[in-house]
Amino acid sequence: MTSFQITLDGNETFHNRIKHQKVQNERNEYKLLLNNIFEIFDTVKNLCFLLRINYTKANLSSICDIMNDIPDKYKEKIIFSFQQVWQTQEIEGHIPADEVINRFIANGFKVSKPHLEPFFYRCYADVLGQIVVAPNGNIFKCTARDFENQPPDGILNKDGVIEWTDQYYRRMSKTTIEYENCLTCPVLPACWGPCSQKLLEYQKGTFDIICNVAGVKQTIYLTLTDFYKKVKSL
Ligand code: SF4
Repeated sequence: MTSFQITLDGNETFHNRIKHQKVQNERNEYKLLLNNIFEIFDTVKNLCFLLRINYTKANLSSICDIMNDIPDKYKEKIIFSFQQVWQTQEIEGHIPADEVINRFIANGFKVSKPHLEPFFYRCYADVLGQIVVAPNGNIFKCTARDFENQPPDGILNKDGVIEWTDQYYRRMSKTTIEYENCLTCPVLPACWGPCSQKLLEYQKGTFDIICNVAGVKQTIYLTLTDFYKKVKSL
């Protein structure tokens, strides 16, 4: 295995706080995770390593602390990806991380910038050929929900055949752009509507909550600004 994506939920304080909410122990989960990452760097050749940083309004300013915990010799091996925690988008709206991203870049770190996916779908979970198999045989499409409290999209039976649930058919029988808001939306080609999971959970009158128009417009703006700067410097 040479390709990894590992997630931190903020700096040491925030990451440990979140992990200790899930598992009560005294371990410094942040330090443990970083040490495991460094071990990967020391042992795996031709590595492709994405370090995803989940951010919220609360932890955003503390995220720069992570830079101090990465030894210089490993800087080159990491691509940072900053992702706003999706639950907070519904409450706090889109929170730009440009300032933090620029500080990482200024300190010599590689950062995956927001970009438009060149795909004709919203999320990999909306594609027919994608599934996640939980250890108990439950099948899910979306990886952004709690597998324990979420109804499965299918069940893997003893013969290795998936028995799909009604939820799966409800999810996959709709397009993600069927709402009038999307059909008349100027950024539709860059968005492809809310994902199938959000549409499953959608309640009438709450479309603004599942529509990320501000985020899509921001990504278009950043992508075009970047392109302009590159062309100008040629
Ligand atoms: S930005 Fe909102 S309205 Fe426009 S396509 Fe995306 S989800 Fe639909």
